[in-house]
Amino acid sequence: MKEGIHPNYQQTTIKCACGNVIETGSTKQDIRVEVCSKCHPFFTGKQKLVDTGGRVAKFNAKFGLK
Ligand SMILES: [Zn+2]
Repeated sequence: MKEGIHPNYQQTTIKCACGNVIETGSTKQDIRVEVCSKCHPFFTGKQKLVDTGGRVAKFNAKFGLK
């Protein structure tokens, strides 16, 4: 990584809708996400995610999942 080309890269926290907090490095601060690696069904294998706007259904249909 070259120095001087990454503006304000610093420690920050990503707060998920499930309550999980991830510490990471980013140029942004106080990032908020709807899903993270702790609650996303792809990582957890569980299907407890709230389907907002049918996005999950579309995802499942696209990949032939039920
Ligand atoms: Zn989460």
